[in-house]
Amino acid sequence: MPDAPFCLRSNALRPAPLSANVSRFGMRKHLATIIVIAIAGLCGLVLLSNYLSSGRMVTTAADAAMCKNNLIAIGKAKAQWVYDEHKTTNDVPSWSDLVGTNRFFVSVPECRAGGVYTIGRVGEPARCSLPGHGL
Ligand SMILES: [Zn+2]
Repeated sequence: MPDAPFCLRSNALRPAPLSANVSRFGMRKHLATIIVIAIAGLCGLVLLSNYLSSGRMVTTAADAAMCKNNLIAIGKAKAQWVYDEHKTTNDVPSWSDLVGTNRFFVSVPECRAGGVYTIGRVGEPARCSLPGHGL
């Protein structure tokens, strides 16, 4: 019988002992990996649900702050419009008075959370239809 090309007694060819695959450390490592993946998955689901509902029921403090900035800008545009057009504080400008080339806005300002703006009289602040969005 010819000699084997390698030594069959070498431990290198033996499968690792079963205990090496199921050691306590190994199981903890797998458990930690599974927990991290589960948490990442949950975060992903929350972000995805926020994104999908961006049609949009979720309104955040950032949305309200952005909306407030828009309402302030609309108020400033109304104040300038009343001056430029010699109007009174009881007059109500339309979007076409405020939006367009050489006007106050390039496009109609939009509430990021989907609220609808009411310009209102010059003497009163512009409003957003969403609760918590106001001046
Ligand atoms: Zn708003």
